[in-house]
Amino acid sequence: MTARILVVDDIPANVKLLEVKLSAEYFDVLTASDGPSALELARSEAPDLILSDVMMPGMDGFELCERLKADPQTSHIPLVMITALSDVSDRVRGLEAGADDFLTKPVNDIALFARVRSLARLKLMMDELRVRQAASGGDEVLAESGVDTAEAIVDAKILLADASPTLASKVADYLAEDGHSTEHVKTVDEALTASQASDYDLLIVSLHLGDEDGLRLCSQIRSQDETRHVPILLLLDEEDLPRLPKGLEIGVTDYVIKPIDRNELRARTRTQIRRRRYHDKLRDMLRSSVAMAYTDTLTGVYNRRYMNAHLDRKIMEIAETVKPVSVLMFDLDHFKSVNDTHGHGAGDEVLKELAKRVSRSVRDLDLVCRYGGEEFVIVMPDAELDMAVNVAERVRSVVSEKPFMIGEDNMALEVTISVGVATTRDPTETPETLIASADEALYGAKAAGRNQVVSSEVRRRSSRSASVGSD
Ligand code: GH3
Ligand code: MG
Ligand code: MG
Repeated sequence: MTARILVVDDIPANVKLLEVKLSAEYFDVLTASDGPSALELARSEAPDLILSDVMMPGMDGFELCERLKADPQTSHIPLVMITALSDVSDRVRGLEAGADDFLTKPVNDIALFARVRSLARLKLMMDELRVRQAASGGDEVLAESGVDTAEAIVDAKILLADASPTLASKVADYLAEDGHSTEHVKTVDEALTASQASDYDLLIVSLHLGDEDGLRLCSQIRSQDETRHVPILLLLDEEDLPRLPKGLEIGVTDYVIKPIDRNELRARTRTQIRRRRYHDKLRDMLRSSVAMAYTDTLTGVYNRRYMNAHLDRKIMEIAETVKPVSVLMFDLDHFKSVNDTHGHGAGDEVLKELAKRVSRSVRDLDLVCRYGGEEFVIVMPDAELDMAVNVAERVRSVVSEKPFMIGEDNMALEVTISVGVATTRDPTETPETLIASADEALYGAKAAGRNQVVSSEVRRRSSRSASVGSD
């Protein structure tokens, strides 16, 4: 993943050290040696992440953080504070100032890259939502919606999975101070059942659940439609830190080291819930009437015009991101016979249910569009062909695995789709040619017997790639 990172520290050797580490991992690094110049760079360069020292003469890290979080132009940029080792009160002050995380000096490489990657990924997703929001109606709605980073977070519903009743009652007490209610479960199965049955704002999961593996629970939580977006806070012991990168990769959103510090737990809980609510609000707004001009009225997914503009932008961004863009195109199999046999109204319901199932099974970054009639397109930025084919298989199976229940008498209809996949790494590719390749692959899937996925990799055209490379 590429991201622009602003490193702030008054000691040049510290700046240099982080710059070298981050550049070696291909991050784009900007540097500042004091708070005021960091503020200026944050506004002018819009970095994806800020790593800031706490102890600096003049404006210290806390003040820098407060100012960044108070400015709408920079409040969405994640900030990681770098504090002296084991200074718990500094961490908590940082989180209360609005910092998204902290690292302790000397900075451990695993922790550094784990935090940087996960925050950069989150930022990317939020940016995408903001862009869609802006495209569909402007920032006023955002400002008026009460999306406010300083908003008090109370009344959250939290699920704690841990084998120990003592720890559970301690956690519940800490969180009750902020008005949150905590339910306690002890096993992976209990946690899965509870999280399916009701909506939680946050899941707190211990790495060891008796003799079960907490990460197994995390990965199942991420793979279920109902809980895909719930933030997960992992509790772990210092000696289990080597397993943390795996956790973050699975989708753990934050972690607390045992023994649990009361204020740290409260601050991190607050941050996670705030992010979740911000994210939910953006999603709600996308679904609101402002987005109407960009969506298909029957199915609620994006329309073709919006998708074309979006795909055009994603392809151009390849020049910067150097990430492939994939496109899936799919079409209902023998759909004409559904209309002929059950009527047009039943056909419409099939289209709606199809859009619903598919939208639930893709990432937030992916854009689902009704391309026309009974044909749909999914645009997937930052997706290699392999990944796109996997997603295509998942989409194909969420359609075929369970019959569609249609009409008032719940008639069960077996529905299948054929999917074509195409990928490009060429920023000069056009949406039309990329879609045409996916369409060609789709035709292949139909010809091969339907209810299947066919891919066709779009190779970078050699005449163009020379000029791209010389930029
Ligand atoms: P194939 O497997 O080759 O795709 O067969 P098919 O029957 O799905 O394809 P064909 O192109 O012959 O028929 C497409 C049908 O989709 C015909 C058209 O009436 C129907 N259709 C397109 N848009 C809508 C719509 O908005 N609502 C309904 N109910 N049907 C639609
Ligand atoms: Mg310093
Ligand atoms: Mg069809």
